[in-house]
Amino acid sequence: MKCPVCGSDCVSSARDLLATLSTVFLPCSSCSMRILDKRAPLPDLSFLPPCPSCGKRFIDEVFAHLYVIMVEHGDLKRTDPLFAVGSPLIHPGFAIERPPFLPERSLVLLSKKVTRKTAERMVKEVPEIRGVVKTGEYTPGLANANLNTVPQVYELLAGCDVRADVFPFPTGPVVIYKQQSLIHIEFPRGNDLKLRSVEQHIGRPPVESFVDACSGAGTLGIAAACLGVRRVVLNDAWYASAFWSAFNLEVNREYLHVSRIRIFEQFDEMRRHPVVKEPIKIAETEGDQSIEVYQGDFRLLHTVLPAPPALSVIDLFDKKNRDANERIIREWKEKTGGEAFIP
Ligand SMILES: [Zn+2]
Ligand SMILES: [Zn+2]
Repeated sequence: MKCPVCGSDCVSSARDLLATLSTVFLPCSSCSMRILDKRAPLPDLSFLPPCPSCGKRFIDEVFAHLYVIMVEHGDLKRTDPLFAVGSPLIHPGFAIERPPFLPERSLVLLSKKVTRKTAERMVKEVPEIRGVVKTGEYTPGLANANLNTVPQVYELLAGCDVRADVFPFPTGPVVIYKQQSLIHIEFPRGNDLKLRSVEQHIGRPPVESFVDACSGAGTLGIAAACLGVRRVVLNDAWYASAFWSAFNLEVNREYLHVSRIRIFEQFDEMRRHPVVKEPIKIAETEGDQSIEVYQGDFRLLHTVLPAPPALSVIDLFDKKNRDANERIIREWKEKTGGEAFIP
């Protein structure tokens, strides 16, 4: 599959990706492992190359390499601790028991301190790096239900920041790709409570229809489709979320009873309408299961749904305000109909 961000081959189907999981971060018998203190500066400005036999390198050694580059460019001081390099997001992301040995292009670096020149050098010289993202003190993408402002995003400085998270699920692991600079981080913990909640509410046999009202990159709605719900609608007001929801249908296609997936808009076109209120259809399927993806305000979704859904999940940005949550659920039931829950 062609990557919608860089045009290269950074995305693959769920089946192809899952086939690699059992060994992707494991060392070979020739691999070496140096554990470094993340709270201290690197002891000396040196690092070991990847394993000559399997090409992987222990994550701490990769961080040593990144640290040396950042110190040489002045992005870090020699007295900064190793963790000041930034946060690693591995690809594919799933719960692992031991720190990983990283193969080529398996790491997206999120860093507050990195600059563009440094990032470009990292992509060129550090084979494990997939992309380098400059972060800020905020959550990228839509952070609340106010759709009148254009959300802040992180900045991709070099490489490609498209990566996948793998969520264990009874019907098979669900693979969710996203462009990391545009969508908030949601790393799989092994036992995902939101997914459990969706599974319990859908029941067996599954409800006839389901809406994922604030779908993000599509995890909950696609999980519902995997459970066999016949009519599923995913919706998000943020273009990157709506796009990746649609794209992830294609990624997880082998779980779905669909003959065709039609995506109506390209990523680059959608960038021109980053936040949308009146729902527009981004994708739909043909076949036994009808799955639709919209970009729009979930409070207006009832205007495009042909019938009230049996069940809806509303995965709100801010779940802490209980009164507001109850009001949103009440309004949803009045306008849209059916049962609704916050996961
Ligand atoms: Zn890419
Ligand atoms: Zn090795």
